[in-house]
Order: sequence, then structure tokens, then C-alpha cells
Amino acid sequence: MIRLPALPAPAPVELARRLQQQFAEWAPETFASAAYPQREMDAIRQAGLLHITLPGEALDLRHSNTPALLQLLRYIGQGNLSVGRIYEGHVNALQLIAVYGTPAQQQRWFADARAGHLFGVWNTEMQDGIHLDRQRTGKVRIRGSKSFCSGSVHVTRPIVPGVLHDSKGRALGWQMAIVPLDRHDPPVDKSFWTPLGMRNSVSHKIDFTGILLEPTDLLGHPGDYNRQPYLSGGAIRFAAVHLGGAAAVLEAIREYIRQLKRTEDCYHRSRVGQMAILVESGNQWLERSGRLTDQSSDTDEIIYYANMTRTAIASICTDCLRLAEHSAGARGMLHPYALPRLHADLTMYLRQPAPDAALEAVGKHYLDDHPTH
Ligand SMILES: Cc1cc2nc3c(=O)[nH]c(=O)nc-3n(C[C@H](O)[C@H](O)[C@H](O)COP(=O)(O)OP(=O)(O)OC[C@H]3O[C@@H](n4cnc5c(N)ncnc54)[C@H](O)[C@@H]3O)c2cc1C
Repeated sequence: MIRLPALPAPAPVELARRLQQQFAEWAPETFASAAYPQREMDAIRQAGLLHITLPGEALDLRHSNTPALLQLLRYIGQGNLSVGRIYEGHVNALQLIAVYGTPAQQQRWFADARAGHLFGVWNTEMQDGIHLDRQRTGKVRIRGSKSFCSGSVHVTRPIVPGVLHDSKGRALGWQMAIVPLDRHDPPVDKSFWTPLGMRNSVSHKIDFTGILLEPTDLLGHPGDYNRQPYLSGGAIRFAAVHLGGAAAVLEAIREYIRQLKRTEDCYHRSRVGQMAILVESGNQWLERSGRLTDQSSDTDEIIYYANMTRTAIASICTDCLRLAEHSAGARGMLHPYALPRLHADLTMYLRQPAPDAALEAVGKHYLDDHPTH
């Protein structure tokens, strides 16, 4: 989709930079709580970031604002990766509504976002996944559960895709539905969420069985969720949050080396130099892929670049973690230093869908389709 020129000066990026500093201050306490990051999400709400990508707002995604959005996500992730994960889900959901919602649905759900409702996208599931059974009345009854529901029941408008069945039980395909979770009290399996890091993302397992939806709660048509370039192209958003994690690791190691008065050491300097180059190259990946997303109408090119960006940034993050470990030594990996906390969160959050397939797709595209450089 070709987008219109960008609106003037995206102040939200500056806002996100300030939030990042606040979140970084709160981070040790938030991490220790292992709970939903209420303070941080309230700050995001108060700063107006829940509706910043909606039509007419500063990062209106009909305009060429993707590079600014990616910077914003990077700053939020730098402040707190769990907050970045939850907020990225919100932005993703609003974009899916912008692409697939009817005008009436857009009006309703955008008003909900302005009123402070938190959205999310909960697609991942296990064997007991979601079925959406259409009743003779036209209403839709949900069967099944979702795993990795980031934000848990604090997300009052999650997109919950599942297999849609007509009233005769025939499967029609993978259908998105938005569940008004503030009107329901589904069983939440918190015991599912025993992760290495990212505990504050409260990515619980939730059983939606029995919830009855209105026909107008279904978003788009069967198969829309998997349509390209939106599905694979959206990976640049979580890559932006990941890069924020790497930037936080770099900051943490700088503080640590300064505290120990080891800034004169040439090995530390070299490692920090390497990390600074890595993070800056990640910024360049984001800038380029953001511009390409806004300017290209070539689905294959957008996917190709998004797959490269997420793969490059994942390895940037892994390299930064390795270099930081080396400089921190055992002492620097003890709480309450920042590195063990950031390390656990970033290592966990780097586990995103189909990394092997994304890299293979880059190679396949390069071999088969002669991309331009
Ligand atoms: C902190 C956090 C928050 C999350 N929040 C959400 C959320 O809000 N909503 C949501 O929908 N999801 C969420 N997820 C889930 C996430 O999007 C991924 O779907 C999930 O992490 C993938 O699971 P996995 O790593 O166990 O995957 P797997 O798919 O099992 O991948 C593990 C490895 O196996 C490889 N692999 C995958 N399939 C195959 C195969 N068929 N054959 C051989 N190798 C294969 C992969 O390339 C990878 O290297 C979250 C995950 C995390 C870590």
C-alpha cells in the first residue's frame, strides 16, 4: 500500500523517549513484582499512546509514519520489554482493524481505544485451540483456549482468531474475533506462565469456552489474518521492541563498567564499541524497513525486507547479550545489577514465531526472485 507523505514532526517519539527513562527507573521494582506493569501501562494511556496510530493522530498509519512508530516501539522496549510486548500487541490489533474492519466496526473499536481500552492479538494456541461456532441465531459461541495471551485480562479487547464453523459445523477458515473481555470472566491459567524472563508480560493461558459473540464482533473474513504483507511484514514491530532491549543492555553495561572504573580497559572499550555498532546498525534496519513498508506496493519485497530485518535484529540482540556477559563477568550477572534482568527478558522475548522459516524465506527469495539492492 503506497502511503501519503508524513505529517509534521512526530512528537510522540520524544514522548516515548521520556517514558523510556521513567520505565527504566521503575524496571527493577516492576521486574521483582513479576506482575502486570500497571504503572507503565497507565503512563502509556495517559500519554495518549493508545490512540496515537488512529486516523488523524500523530502516527496515523495511513501516512508515512512507520519509521516513527518503530522508533517509538524501540524506546518503549528499551524502557521495559514486557511493556513493549503488550503495547506492540495493541498497535498490531488497531492496524488489523484499520485494514479489515467495516467503517462501523472501526468507529466502535477506535472509540474504545480512545476511551482507554487495551487491545491485543492472541493467535498462538495449543491442541485445545479456538473454534468459533456460528449459531442458528447468527451469534457465535467460542470453544477453546489461547496460550501466550500477553497482557492477560488487562487486555479488554483482544483479537482472538480461531476456526469459524457455520451452523452446520462446516469449517470455513481462520477467522478473527474481538472479545469484549471486560464483560466476561474466563478461566485464566496463570500457572502456564513460568518463563525464563518477560514475566511482567503476564502471557497467561485463557479459556474462552462458552463466550457468546455478536456477529459484528467478527473482524474481516476467514483467512484475512494470514494475508500478506501484513502478517510477515508486521515482524518489524516486534524487531523494534527487541532492538530496544539490546539498547538497554548496552546502557546497562556502560553503567556497570563506569561503576567499576574500568572504562580505560581496552577490551571493555572494544566490546562496547562492537555493541554500539550493532545497535546503530539495528536502527538503520528499522529506518529502512519502515520506509519500505510505507513506500512499497510490492508484497514480496515488504516480506523479504521484514524477514531480513527481524533476523538481523535477532542476531544483533544475541551478539549484544554475548558481549555484555563477557564484560559483566559473574558479579555483573547478580541482581540487582540491570544485566541479569535484561538478559532474562530479552532472551525470552527473542523467541518469536518461525525464525528458521523467516531466514529460509530470505534465502529462497534471493535465489529465486532476483531482488534488487
Ligand atoms: C514473551 C512472549 C509473549 C508472547 N505473547 C504473545 C501474544 O500476545 N500473542 C500471541 O499470539 N503469541 C504470543 N507469543 C507467542 C509467540 O508469538 C510465538 O508464537 C511463540 O513464541 C512461538 O513458540 P515457540 O518458540 O515455542 O515455537 P516453535 O514454533 O516451536 O519454534 C521453536 C523452534 O522450532 C522451529 N520450528 C517451528 N516449527 C517447526 C517445524 N514444523 N519443524 C521444525 N522446526 C520448527 C522454529 O524455527 C524455532 O527455531 C509470545 C511469546 C513470548 C515469548
